[in-house]
Amino acid sequence: MKAPAFDYVKPASMAEALAYLKQYGAGAQVLAGGQSLMAVLNLGMASPDVLVDITALPGLNEIKVQADSVTIGALVTHAALQASPQVAQHVPLLWQAVPHVAHMAIRNAGTIGGSLALADPAAEYPAVALALNATLTLQGPGGQRQVSAQDFFLGFYSTARAEDELLVAVTFPKVKGGQVMVFDELTRRRGDYALCGLAAAFEVKGSVISTARLAYLSMGDRPMLASSAAAELMGKVPSAATIAAAQAALAQDLSPNGDLHGSAKGKLQWARVLLERSVSHVGKSV
Ligand SMILES: Cc1cc2nc3c(=O)[nH]c(=O)nc-3n(C[C@H](O)[C@H](O)[C@H](O)COP(=O)(O)OP(=O)(O)OC[C@H]3O[C@@H](n4cnc5c(N)ncnc54)[C@H](O)[C@@H]3O)c2cc1C
Repeated sequence: MKAPAFDYVKPASMAEALAYLKQYGAGAQVLAGGQSLMAVLNLGMASPDVLVDITALPGLNEIKVQADSVTIGALVTHAALQASPQVAQHVPLLWQAVPHVAHMAIRNAGTIGGSLALADPAAEYPAVALALNATLTLQGPGGQRQVSAQDFFLGFYSTARAEDELLVAVTFPKVKGGQVMVFDELTRRRGDYALCGLAAAFEVKGSVISTARLAYLSMGDRPMLASSAAAELMGKVPSAATIAAAQAALAQDLSPNGDLHGSAKGKLQWARVLLERSVSHVGKSV
């Protein structure tokens, strides 16, 4: 199918971009890498009045390393994340997730901002952002505001971003000594969207898991935090009994819908398999 007719603007400054968003309201659609949006347009699933191409805006494609955190501009591509030694060193959970995003051609154009703003529940970065409780920076007519990942993802393709705001950056805490990060997912074929995925951040003291934050993708209408399962892990040595207790608790955290990919029961089992894998990984690293 062909995309419906739309106007196209490519602002050179943030002020200009925000003015277009204000002027067109719900009729404006931000264009970043186009890797999701162009498909949506070509399938006739959206018909915006105007595309506001933000790729010429200055300052949005930088990776800045601070004392305790790393701030990544919205226009940083998946490929740039993958090639970044800073991301590999300081945000290893994100770095582990990148190769699971689609294929290289898509990773060359798609951006972290596009992925987070789209809020596809099957996407990797929203779950990573939730596991690390990243902070998203939004810029609107009144200036910038920060929203935690926990408050950003509201539902199926729905976020706390207002239509006159741009997502400009995301800030992740730097990994600390004693933390173990594990990203894993199940797919039918490499590069496909995940049937189920888990972004897990553990803190280990001696041989005991002191904190655990488990964020699942493809298990609900948004990235899902599995707090009950995490509670079963905290203060425990990563053993078969610990894993079994956490796996049982997952039923309190997740209630996936059955669909053509799998039954509700089967999906919960996938989540349990990924939990077992990630805690076993912690066991091997202590
Ligand atoms: C075949 C295929 C397979 C894919 N597989 C995966 C996968 O396995 N995992 C995965 O996570 N993704 C996957 N994707 C999507 C890909 O990762 C996209 O790059 C990403 O979701 C969107 O990034 P983008 O820069 O291309 O955004 P665009 O397509 O340009 O925009 C996506 C949406 O976000 C909005 N938007 C973009 N940037 C901003 C911003 N800065 N502020 C506010 N709103 C903004 C747009 O208006 C639009 O609604 C796949 C895509 C394809 C075509």
